[in-house]
Amino acid sequence: MGYNQKMFGLGSKRSIIREIFEYSKTRAKEIGAENVFDFSLGNPSVPAPCEVNDTIRELLDSENSVLLHGYTSAQGDLKVREAIADSIKARFDVAITPNHIYMTCGAAASLSICLKAVIEEDKDDECIVFAPFFTEYRVFIENAGGKVVVSAPMEKTFQIDVADFEAKLSPKTKAVILNSPNNPSGVVYSEETVKALCEVLRKKSAEYGSPIYLIADEPYRELVYSDVTVPYLMNYYENTLVCYSYSKSLSLPGERIGYIAVSPAMEDGANIYLAVCGAGRSLGYVCAPSLFQHVIARCMDAKVDIEIYRENRDLLYNNLTEYGYECVKPDGAFYLFVKALEDDAYKFYEKAKQHEILVVPCDDFGVKGYVRIAYCVDKARVLGALPAFKKLAEEYK
Ligand code: PLP
Repeated sequence: MGYNQKMFGLGSKRSIIREIFEYSKTRAKEIGAENVFDFSLGNPSVPAPCEVNDTIRELLDSENSVLLHGYTSAQGDLKVREAIADSIKARFDVAITPNHIYMTCGAAASLSICLKAVIEEDKDDECIVFAPFFTEYRVFIENAGGKVVVSAPMEKTFQIDVADFEAKLSPKTKAVILNSPNNPSGVVYSEETVKALCEVLRKKSAEYGSPIYLIADEPYRELVYSDVTVPYLMNYYENTLVCYSYSKSLSLPGERIGYIAVSPAMEDGANIYLAVCGAGRSLGYVCAPSLFQHVIARCMDAKVDIEIYRENRDLLYNNLTEYGYECVKPDGAFYLFVKALEDDAYKFYEKAKQHEILVVPCDDFGVKGYVRIAYCVDKARVLGALPAFKKLAEEYK
C-alpha cells in the first residue's frame, strides 16, 4: 500500500465524539432535534461578543484589503504580537515581548508546534499527560515522535496526584502537558498542586541535567465559574510554553486563531522560540489567519457571557447529583465528568442513548468508567434532558 498507514488509521477511525455527533444529526432527522439531548461536542453555544463582529466589519471597511487578507510574518503580525505581549504583561506580570509570541491556528496547532519543537524523535522522548486528558494529545505527541506517558489523578477530586507524577518522570521525559480548566473534568488545578508539580519538575530537571518543558494548554482559561484562580504557569516554572486559543474564550472555534507564548525566563528561550518557528514551518502552520489576527489584536479583552454556561452547569450538577449520579463539581470549562452507573462506560453510554441522551464514554481520556457531558448547549436542551437523566438513574436502582 503506497501511503502512510498511520495517517490512514487516523483518518479512517473517527473519534467517538465525532461518531456520536454524526449519529445525533441522523437521529434529529428521525425524531426532531428538540428530542435529541446531544451533549457530545465542545462547540461553544454562546455567541462571540458583539465587539468581534463589529471589528470584522470595521476592518473590512477601513483597512487595505490586499494587506488585510495577505500573508503576515510567519510567526504573526508584529503589532498583533505586541498587543498580545502587552496584555500578558498587564494581566500576569510577566516580562514578555512580541519575540516570545507565535500566532497559530488555535490550540491544536499550538500544541502540535510546541511538541514538535521540543521532542527529539530519535531519543525516545516521552511526554506526560494528566488523566483525564483531551484525547487528541495522543495524536499530537505521537506525530511529533514522542511517547505518551499517563499520570493517574487523585480519586474523586481529579486533581493531579503529584506522587504518581513524580514516579512517571524519567530521564526520557521531555515535556508535560497541563490543561486547566480541564477537558473533560472541568477541574481547575489548585495553586498548591501547581507549586508542588513545578518543584518536582525543577528537582528532576536538575537531577537529569536536561530541561523538562511544561506545556500549558489553556483554551478554557477564561471559562471559570467559581471563586478560584487559574495559576499562570510562567509565574511558577521557567521552562513553560503557553498554548492559548480564542476558540472557547471568544467563541471562535471555526476561525482557528490562538498563539504560543514562550516564557521569557526559559533557559535557552531564544533558541526554543526559533525551534517553535521551525516546527510551525515544518508543519505548514505559518501565518495564522490574517483577518483574525487583526480582530484579536482589537478584541482580546472582550468577554463571552459565561453566565449561560454557569446556569447549565448548576442545573446539571444539582439535579444529577440529586438523582444519584456522582461527579466532581466543575470550576471551569463546560464539561461535567460523571461516573457511569455501571463499570463499563460504553454500555452506560448505550443505555443513555436509549433515552436520547448522548454523552461521551471517556475510556480514551485515560479514566475508565466515566462519561463526559458537554454543557455548551441551549438551556432548553438541559431542561429537556433532566427527566431523561432521572429515568436513566432509576433504571439502575
Ligand atoms: N485543548 C483542549 C483541552 C481542548 O478541549 C481543545 C478543543 O476542544 C483544544 C485543545 C483544541 O482547541 P482549538 O479549537 O483552539 O484548536
